[in-house]
Amino acid sequence: MNEQARPTSPSEAQPATAPPTHHHGVAPAIAAMRVALWLTIALAALALPLSGSDWTWRAAAFACAHAAASALLARRRPAARPYPHLDVAVDLMAATAVVATTGGFTSPLLPLTWFVTACALALLGHRGGLVVAASAVVLSAVHFRTTADLADVVVYGCASGALLLAAAALGLAESARERSSSLLRRRTLEDVEAQVEHLDECNRQMRATVRELNAVVRDQRARADDAAAAHRIIAATVDGTDPGALHASALQVLAEAVNAGVAALWLREPGSDRLVLRAAVGSVDPCLPHAQVDAGPDTQPHSVRKECEALLAAASAAAGPSLPAIPGGRATLGALLRDRDQVTGVVAVGAHRSGAFTEDHASRLSALAPAAALACRGIEDRVRLSRAIREVSLLHEVARLADTAGDTDGIYAAVGRLIARGIPCENCTVYAVDRDAGALVPKATHGSAVNLLDQMRFSMGFGVEGWLLEGRKHLVVADALREPSLAGAAVPPSVRSFLAAPMTVQGAVVGAIVASHARPNAFSREDLRLLSALAGQSAASVERLDMRRSLERMAITDGLTSIYNHRYFRMRLQQEVERARRYSLNLAVLIMDIDRFKEMNDQHGHAVGDAVLAEMAGVLHRNMRSTEIVARYGGDEFVALLPQTDADQAAIAAERMLRRVREHRFGAVVGAAMRVTVSIGIAALSEAGEAADRLMERADGALYRAKREGRNQMCVAPSVPASQEPEPPVRAAVRRLPSGQRVEAGREAA
Ligand code: GH3
Ligand code: MG
Repeated sequence: MNEQARPTSPSEAQPATAPPTHHHGVAPAIAAMRVALWLTIALAALALPLSGSDWTWRAAAFACAHAAASALLARRRPAARPYPHLDVAVDLMAATAVVATTGGFTSPLLPLTWFVTACALALLGHRGGLVVAASAVVLSAVHFRTTADLADVVVYGCASGALLLAAAALGLAESARERSSSLLRRRTLEDVEAQVEHLDECNRQMRATVRELNAVVRDQRARADDAAAAHRIIAATVDGTDPGALHASALQVLAEAVNAGVAALWLREPGSDRLVLRAAVGSVDPCLPHAQVDAGPDTQPHSVRKECEALLAAASAAAGPSLPAIPGGRATLGALLRDRDQVTGVVAVGAHRSGAFTEDHASRLSALAPAAALACRGIEDRVRLSRAIREVSLLHEVARLADTAGDTDGIYAAVGRLIARGIPCENCTVYAVDRDAGALVPKATHGSAVNLLDQMRFSMGFGVEGWLLEGRKHLVVADALREPSLAGAAVPPSVRSFLAAPMTVQGAVVGAIVASHARPNAFSREDLRLLSALAGQSAASVERLDMRRSLERMAITDGLTSIYNHRYFRMRLQQEVERARRYSLNLAVLIMDIDRFKEMNDQHGHAVGDAVLAEMAGVLHRNMRSTEIVARYGGDEFVALLPQTDADQAAIAAERMLRRVREHRFGAVVGAAMRVTVSIGIAALSEAGEAADRLMERADGALYRAKREGRNQMCVAPSVPASQEPEPPVRAAVRRLPSGQRVEAGREAA
C-alpha cells in the first residue's frame, strides 16, 4: 500500500505549531491578572512608607496568592504557555526593583522574588525555575551584603535554602516525570514503529495476494475467452451439410479469435498419410489447395506444423504483401489437430498487421486447437451420416424402381439419373449385357456417353468381354492418361477419372454402370462403394421387374398356347361389358370349339393334340385385330372378344375365322398335315344392359347349336330382352346331335 495513503495518527493530523483552541481565552486572562498584580504591588509599595502598617503585607500576600493561583492555572494548561520566559524575566526584574525601592533585604515585599521563582518553576519547568531561584538567592545575597544584619541573614538564608530545596525537589520531580514520559514516549514510538512495520509487512503481503488474484482473474478471463471462442467454433459448424462451408466458417471464427488475417486448415485424407487443404481464409494463393503435406508415421508432428506454416506464408505472400517477421513476434502460427494421439490436421494462421503474434496468441491458438479438431470431427461425422442417409435413400429409390418403373428401360434411365445425383460424375452410362453378342449395350446415359471399357486391355482378352469374363468387381481409373491398361487407347480428352461397377445377379453379370469425370482423381473410395452398391441394387431391380412381369404374364397366359387364359378373358369381358354399357357401344363374343378333337387325340395322341391346340391358338390370334382379344377358354375351346362389333360384323369375322382354320394344315410340327375345323357361337351384347355371364351363356348356346347343326359352321345367338330367362344349358344334348347345315339359331329355337 502506498505510504502516503496510510492514515495518519491523530497526533500527526494536526500541525505541531497550531495552538490549542483554549489559548486564546487563557492568555488575556493571565495578562490581565499580571497587570492587576503589579498594580496592587505598586500601590502597596507606594502605601508602605505612608502607613507602615501590616495591611501592605496582607496586600503583598494576596498578590502572591493571586499570582500563584494564576501560575497554577497556567500550569494546568501547559500547552498554552501563556507566560513565556520574557514575562518571567520582566516579573523578576520588577520584583527586584520593588523590593529594592521598598527597603532592600528588609523590604516586606521581598517574598515577591519567591513568588516570581515559584511562577518560573511552575511555568518554565525545573531548569528555568532553578535559574530564577538562583537569581533570587544572588539578589538576596546582594541585599544581604548591603543592608542586612545577622538575624535577617539567617532568616533569609533559611528561606532561600528552602526555596532552593523546593525548586530542586520540584525540578527533580519534573525531571523524573519527564524521563518517565520520554521513556513512555520512546516505548510508544517503538510500539508504533513496530506496528507500522507490521502494517507494512501486511501491506506487502496483501499486495502480493492482490497481484496473485489479478493473475488468477486474468487467467480465468483468458480461459473464459478461450471457452467462448471454442464454443463459437463448434457452433459455427452445427448447421449445414456442405463440409467446405462448415470448415470455412470454423476456420473464420478461429482466425478472428487470434486476430489473424489469413488462415488455412489441412485435414488428413481418410485412410491416407496426406493432409489436404480443406479451407482457407483471407487472401491466399489459389495454388495452395494443391499443396499436400506428408503426415506419415515417420514424420515429426512438429515439422508437419512448420511445413503448413511455411505453405501459408508462401501462399499469402504470393497473393499479396508478405507476412512481416517482427523481431520478438512471429508472422505465422500453427497448431496440430489431434484425435486420440493421431495428428488429424493442422491449422495455420498469419497476420499482416505490424504487431504480429505474441506468446499469448500462440497459447490461445493451442487452446482452441482441440475445439477445432472436435468441430472437424463433428463435420466429418455429419457428412458421413448425411452421405449414408443419401446412399440409403438412393438405394431405396433404386430398389423401388422394380415396382414403379414400367419396364427395364425405365429402370436403366432412372438408375442413370440417380447415380448422377449420388456420385460427382460428368457422365454416367448404364449398360446391359447382350449375351449373344458378348457385349455391353448402352441402355441409358446421363451426360454424353463414355465407354472406356471397350478400349481397355484386360488380362483375359480385350474389352468388355474380358472384363466380364474376369468377373471384375469394379474398375477404377484415377487418371486415364497414366492408366497402363489404356496405353495406346483413344481416350477422349473429357475423361480423366473413370469408374465402372458390374451389375450382377447371383454371380452373373447382367450389366454395368460406368461414371467418368474430366478431372483426375475425381472419385473417392466412397463413390466406388456407392456405385457398386447401386449397380447391385439396379441389377436386382431389373431382375425383380423381369420376374414380376413374367409372373404377371403367366397369370394371364395359357401355358400351352401362349395366348390369354380363361381368367384374363373373364376379367376383360367384364371390363368391356361395363364399358360398352356405359358408352352404349357394341360388343360381341365368339366361342370356338374344335370339332371332334377327342377323336384326334385318340387317333394321333395327346402330344399331337397339344400341338394342334397351340397351332389353333396361333391361327386365331393372327386373324384377330389388335383391339380384339383371343383366349383359350379351356380344353379345345377358344373365345374371342370383339369390342365395338355388332352381331353382323362378328358373323363376318367368324366366317373369316372358319375359313382360315379350314385352310390351315395342322400338325406340320409333328410331320402330319391334318384338316381341323371349328364351330363358332356368336353373341352380341343386347341393348337392354345384359350381364357378361348372360352374354356368354347365349354365345355358348349358339355354339352348341352350331355343333348340332353339323359343325364347321357358326351360329349367331338371337338378341333377347334382359328380362327374358336364360336358355337352359343344352350343351350335352347338342353335342350328341349329328352335324348339319348352318341354321339360323332364332328360327331353330322357335
Ligand atoms: P365336338 O365336336 O362335339 O366338340 O367333339 P369333341 O371330341 O371335340 O368333344 P369335346 O369338345 O367335348 O372334347 C374335348 C376333348 O379335348 C376332350 C379332351 O380329350 C380333349 N382335350 C381337352 N384338353 C386337352 C388338352 O389340353 N390337350 C389335348 N391333347 N386334348 C385335350
Ligand atoms: Mg370339341
